[in-house]
Amino acid sequence: MSGAGMKAGVAGWPVDHSLSPLMMEAWLADAGLAGSYERIAASPDTFAAAMMRLREAGYAGVNVTLPHKEAALALAGNASAAARAAGAANVLVFRKDGLFADNTDIDGIRAALAEGGWQAGDRPAVLVGAGGAARAAFHVLKSAGVAIRLINRTPARAEALSQALQYPADIFSFDQADAALDGAGLIINATSLGMRGQAALKLPLSRLAPGALVFDMVYIPLETPLLAQARALEVKTVDGLSMLIGQARPAFRHFFVAEPPSATPVRDRLLAALEAR
Ligand code: NAP
Repeated sequence: MSGAGMKAGVAGWPVDHSLSPLMMEAWLADAGLAGSYERIAASPDTFAAAMMRLREAGYAGVNVTLPHKEAALALAGNASAAARAAGAANVLVFRKDGLFADNTDIDGIRAALAEGGWQAGDRPAVLVGAGGAARAAFHVLKSAGVAIRLINRTPARAEALSQALQYPADIFSFDQADAALDGAGLIINATSLGMRGQAALKLPLSRLAPGALVFDMVYIPLETPLLAQARALEVKTVDGLSMLIGQARPAFRHFFVAEPPSATPVRDRLLAALEAR
């Protein structure tokens, strides 16, 4: 099956801010495919009906963004092991036999960690946050078999995450960050702290093990206060755009049944779009 002429999009509420069309259109053009990719505004009340309408209209599938990631999984008749483990889907593929849900945020997190040179070892990983994105990160860390230390504002939510994913984690408050970071080899920020307009995430990075990596999922601004703090201490960093691009690649494969061209300078285009905002 060829991807030429296939239609796809990103569904969210709001969806105007989504950078997905920029990546997908760039790959479509460079791959010489005549497919299309658009923003689809769907409120929580209209999400399910909108998905059915798009499927009937011959769309190949959609990326799903906030606040629909859990609803997308519930709507699908079939789901990948990754989506089931994360309890959420950011991709819906419209197949002849029904809706298939996948979670490519997990691929994005793996891509970001690989780009940052992280390798699972004996050193514990610190995950900050217990929402949807943290759930995907927890799955990645669990799969890697590392010890997980969870920091979250609401400890009960962190407990619930560890229980739902059936893997132990040591739970810490922000006040206990010294102990949480002590000797750790990785920090993942999966909260909205550090995002433009939000409070900064400040952590005692000098407690980390030598060679540790700091990965911040937030990408507006690209250099968050946490990443700036890490760079000042010469701690390795990886930013949120690596995850954004890493989740889009497998989504493109789902929709257009083709490989996103590796030579397309998507990162440069995303940076230009972010600077223009
Ligand atoms: P979510 O489900 O709403 O979870 C939000 C998390 O942030 C929770 O752990 C919440 O703690 C914490 N939080 C929010 N405000 C806080 C505050 N003022 N102080 C302390 N903690 C606070 O959101 P999500 O979907 O997981 O997204 C989390 C972040 O990841 C967002 O910044 C999002 O943009 C980013 N993200 C990036 C990518 C990418 O491709 N780079 C993909 C997905 C998500 P409580 O549990 O205590 O409420």
